[in-house]
Amino acid sequence: MIKNLETGMAYDVAVIGSGLAGLTAANYLAKLGYRVVLFEQHYVLGGLAAYFSRKNHIFDVSLHGFPFGMVKSCRKYWSPEIANSIVQLKRIRFVNPQFDIETTFTREDFTKILIENFRIMPEIVENFFTRSRQMNFYDDDHRCTRDIFEEFFPGRNDVHRLLMEPIAYANGSTLDDEAITYGIVFSNFMSKGVYTFEGGTDLLIKKMTEELIRNGVDIFKRSKVEKVLLDRDRIAGVHVNGIDVKCRAVLSNAHILNTVKNLIGEEYFSSEFLAKVSKTRINNSSCQVYIGITPGETIDDIGDLIFTSESEYFNSKELKDFHTKSRTFSLYYPKTRPNEKPIYTIVASMNADWSDWSNLDEADYQREKKRIAEDSIRSLEQFIPDVLQKIASVETATPKTFFRYTSHPCGTSFGTKFEGLEISMNLPNEIQGLYHAGSVGIIMSGWLGAMNYGVITAHKLASYL
Ligand SMILES: Cc1cc2nc3c(=O)[nH]c(=O)nc-3n(C[C@H](O)[C@H](O)[C@H](O)COP(=O)(O)OP(=O)(O)OC[C@H]3O[C@@H](n4cnc5c(N)ncnc54)[C@H](O)[C@@H]3O)c2cc1C
Repeated sequence: MIKNLETGMAYDVAVIGSGLAGLTAANYLAKLGYRVVLFEQHYVLGGLAAYFSRKNHIFDVSLHGFPFGMVKSCRKYWSPEIANSIVQLKRIRFVNPQFDIETTFTREDFTKILIENFRIMPEIVENFFTRSRQMNFYDDDHRCTRDIFEEFFPGRNDVHRLLMEPIAYANGSTLDDEAITYGIVFSNFMSKGVYTFEGGTDLLIKKMTEELIRNGVDIFKRSKVEKVLLDRDRIAGVHVNGIDVKCRAVLSNAHILNTVKNLIGEEYFSSEFLAKVSKTRINNSSCQVYIGITPGETIDDIGDLIFTSESEYFNSKELKDFHTKSRTFSLYYPKTRPNEKPIYTIVASMNADWSDWSNLDEADYQREKKRIAEDSIRSLEQFIPDVLQKIASVETATPKTFFRYTSHPCGTSFGTKFEGLEISMNLPNEIQGLYHAGSVGIIMSGWLGAMNYGVITAHKLASYL
């Protein structure tokens, strides 16, 4: 039954935002028996786990790949049906001036490649994997990823590229970020490779929505929470669409800085906490080019995920440069949506900075969007020479697009840098009943990180209630 938002409504928990962290937290709390309401400002659920339709095509925004851990998390916190639709992507390619390789992205295959193609001693590879796996949040090791790479593979920019490029696209991390942010995510992927959801993002979100409704969550789309209401230092409700809704606790899936500064207001936090907030760096954003292949046309299997670059050497700055020569191609063959008409789509993704896009006037903005679309198609021609003749439609997203659909500052794709995690975790110490889950601190980003962080936070919130 579709409910209308009305004055006097009261819940145990209001979840603000329907990213994977918000959705999973709402489901977890509803299954525990709490009365949960979920507000999403956009007209579709999913946050950055987004999709959109254009004529014959459905484009997936962030379904490029996630670690095997998603199977366990989906089974435990969603349903066996969702978990059973997760399938492996087997053809991951790297094509750049330094090397051209294909891998299943499993530990076994990566070990073989490092030894045979890159001539690294087996014990060094083994030690590197062990070291990455041992990194954990409570380590007091402040070395950066660059330091660890130099320790194991000194002067080997090619090896650094192989190891870093996929993670940089997965969570925005750079060689200069804390090594733990690399080690945890790399080890997650390295267990069993890269996975996707068969049926597409639209089907996943549909199934999640059905599950939420079954578990009694009230869902309101096009509902931007303007303010979190307080009774002294304790949560009292939220103000949304001109109405006050009462609740005992709030789980915000909005960006952590928006949560502190806009939804609550800095005046309610301690100066010590705010000092840390002011030092929290926002992570980078993305550009994407969505390419729809004319229905009836086919393309050969050129791989599922291609990390490609024309840049001679790897460097983290180049990866998000306004004129970057590096991008990933995600190939969506008919197998992505086996129950639909056979359709091909290709998504080119680049890391990007808000500052390069935010100040362009309309004419320059349109021109630059056209440029990145053309550059991406030209790059794609090295894999599909006649692709131009097969393209039916092209759409382009920039950091401004991501900002429009999420309200995240600077249109960030991956929340904040590492320090954001501490801010997020400490919210309930500042205001009773206020919790946050969502991309923070790099390790809690991506589909798996966001979903698992949603559960961790929901668990703490349940203890509070
Ligand atoms: C281009 C791109 C490609 C990616 N590729 C991958 C990938 O291949 N694999 C992977 O694992 N991850 C990928 N990611 C990252 C992944 O999509 C995100 O880390 C994850 O989906 C973030 O989930 P989240 O819970 O943090 O919230 P988000 O998805 O950021 O959602 C937050 C939600 O809160 C809503 N909201 C904000 N403020 C309010 C308010 N005041 N009231 C109501 N609603 C509000 C927003 O509208 C949004 O829906 C990619 C991201 C991008 C941008």
